[in-house]
Amino acid sequence: MVTHHPDMRLLTEFASGSLPLAQSAAISVHLHFCSHCKRQVNALQDMGAEMFDTLQPADVDDSLLDNVLAHLDDEAPLTYASSAAIDESPVLVQRLMTGDYKDLKWSRINKALQIARLRTGDPEHEFALYHIKAGGSIPCHSHKGTELTLVLEGSFSDEEGVYHQGDFLMRDAEDVHTPTASRTADCICIGVLDAPIRFKPWNYRLLNPFLQLQAS
Ligand SMILES: [Zn+2]
Repeated sequence: MVTHHPDMRLLTEFASGSLPLAQSAAISVHLHFCSHCKRQVNALQDMGAEMFDTLQPADVDDSLLDNVLAHLDDEAPLTYASSAAIDESPVLVQRLMTGDYKDLKWSRINKALQIARLRTGDPEHEFALYHIKAGGSIPCHSHKGTELTLVLEGSFSDEEGVYHQGDFLMRDAEDVHTPTASRTADCICIGVLDAPIRFKPWNYRLLNPFLQLQAS
């Protein structure tokens, strides 16, 4: 049973298609597990469509029109899959759901933790899977930015709670935590970062300079 959800701001940005791709992918996976948030997103999208219908066309002076026309030949901007794709989940999400974790390229951080970075096409966010052995921990760390976490398999706990399959967490720059997998099963979760994490224990600090964000 899913008990930790994205907040309304994230769901609204997701519903309007304005969330960066890697964060959007993490929310899509949450919606796969959470019918409550999926209903919220559908309602937000209906509301957005209604608001769009009631918009009155504004008078536009010629300079704005010229400006728009001048940009029509520009290269098309990157487009991100919007939340309209919830039911036809992105290939990335389908792949995660089939659980072919062994095909991924895992890097070993310590004997309890391996990380596999995945490419989402998002140039500003790292999207990675964390495999924590039963009873093992991700060394205590802080963040310079935002960390989104979604549990795919097993469960883990940190200073603030216990998280099971489908649970979604957002941690900010000032948060410090030590996620630890349950003793009974390995835990696999998604982590989306917009800045590298920083390990606190002295014996992991040597790794900090090498923890570069690997986005795209
Ligand atoms: Zn939810």
